[in-house]
Amino acid sequence: MRLILMGPPGAGKGTQAIRIAERLGVPAISTGDIFRANVATGTPLGIAARTYMDAGEYVPDEITDSMVRDRLADADCRGGFLLDGYPRTLQQVKELDATLGNLGVDLDGVLILAVDTRSLVQRLRQRATVEGRTDDTEAVIRRRQEVYEEQTAPLASEYDARGLLVEVDGTGSIDRVTDRIHAVLALLSRT
Ligand code: AMP
Repeated sequence: MRLILMGPPGAGKGTQAIRIAERLGVPAISTGDIFRANVATGTPLGIAARTYMDAGEYVPDEITDSMVRDRLADADCRGGFLLDGYPRTLQQVKELDATLGNLGVDLDGVLILAVDTRSLVQRLRQRATVEGRTDDTEAVIRRRQEVYEEQTAPLASEYDARGLLVEVDGTGSIDRVTDRIHAVLALLSRT
């Protein structure tokens, strides 16, 4: 299956992406994780991405798109993939369309995790104490929510218009959310 997992910062995308990908036997591709790994090892990509990430802004499309294009061309993506945190702008949607077109494959679905703003902020504050991410400070958390609303939320209508969007309730325990996602995937794989 070729899937996208969407949702605002703090919705639990990363946690759920790993679980779904494992169940489906496809790689979970998290652009945030790839950026963080590059920041940690000080590669040119990491150096370019860091300032944006620390400010809660998106890394420019050209950088992000070419990174994903390369990753999707890897052999382990041939049987499917789960994109976590990409695309995040309408320009990235276009680029992804082109990349998938070149590979001769289509998306099977776009899952969006719905969580109310209060719970999101609460979860991110908690994650800040657990993981110590540099972009989980109060001001940056707020900025990331704004950027999501401005630039990424509109993608939901785009994928809905294509008949690909499925909203999943992202509240409650991690296991309950995973169960809901698996139920949706079971329906998708029958269509
Ligand atoms: P995440 O771990 O998905 O919350 O991503 C952490 C940060 O990485 C984001 O706040 C952005 O700065 C950057 N990032 C991740 N994915 C993208 C993307 N698709 N486009 C632009 N920036 C991204």
